[in-house]
Amino acid sequence: MKTHSICSYTVLAFLLLLTACAGAATESLPGTFDGDLAYAHVLAQCDLGYRPTGSEAGWATGDYIIEQLEAHGWEVETQVFTYRDTPVRNVIGRLGEGPVIILGAHYDTRRSADAEDPSVPVMGANDGASGVAVLLELARSLDPAALDHQVWLAFFDAEDNGRLDGWEWCVGSSYMAAHLDVTPEAVIVADMIGDADQQLYMDGNSHPALREHLWDIGATLGYTDTYIPEVGWTMYDDHIPFAQRGIPAVDIIDFAYPYWHTTQDTPDKVSPDSLERVGRVLEQFLEQGAEW
Ligand SMILES: [Zn+2]
Repeated sequence: MKTHSICSYTVLAFLLLLTACAGAATESLPGTFDGDLAYAHVLAQCDLGYRPTGSEAGWATGDYIIEQLEAHGWEVETQVFTYRDTPVRNVIGRLGEGPVIILGAHYDTRRSADAEDPSVPVMGANDGASGVAVLLELARSLDPAALDHQVWLAFFDAEDNGRLDGWEWCVGSSYMAAHLDVTPEAVIVADMIGDADQQLYMDGNSHPALREHLWDIGATLGYTDTYIPEVGWTMYDDHIPFAQRGIPAVDIIDFAYPYWHTTQDTPDKVSPDSLERVGRVLEQFLEQGAEW
């Protein structure tokens, strides 16, 4: 059953891409973030299988991200290191000139569905794939002529095995934050943002002014039902290693996700509209000069 349902993601991804491309010819503007194209990236990642750090599918996910970035003209750098005898690889895509803004997402998935059966991994359609999908669609949709910053799309490995066999959380992002050769103006992380029942409360550990600005953009785009301007949770996520270095950092996360770290974190829980609401806010933020 599992193999069958994973294969069907490929078929669905293909149909969605066809639909989205057909739509693009008639309706959506080129250079506008498209939720259906983002959702195809969720399906493509899940089609690779469970993607924990150090797995074959995890490495293939990094390869997929690199291919997508290069196809859209982004300059790619990888950071490969070893953590607890496990190879870890961060991927960074860069575009444009000027002060640096980093958008980040983790691409590894948790190797244990600890809420149920710890021997079974998590598919991570939302916890992992959704944030990556938004960044990859931004790689296509961002208009280089509208950017007055250098944008980094940062794909972190090894976020999600925290507390398993003594692993820490946020290993890849910690490594990246410790090896920066520039000081970015801001770091914005997108994690678990694809839930069809989207509730984007603010994170209490995020930079207040930057967070308010992003939620204001959400409001101007009409997303008042999903961008809720109240602190709903306080997260230790991939933004923290950057915040600890004094860099304004925000985590866009919907932690009201009943399938978190369960076997039910599958693509049917993720909606293209939810991905689009996050992608368009980030697109507006960057194309409006990334000021706050
Ligand atoms: Zn997780």
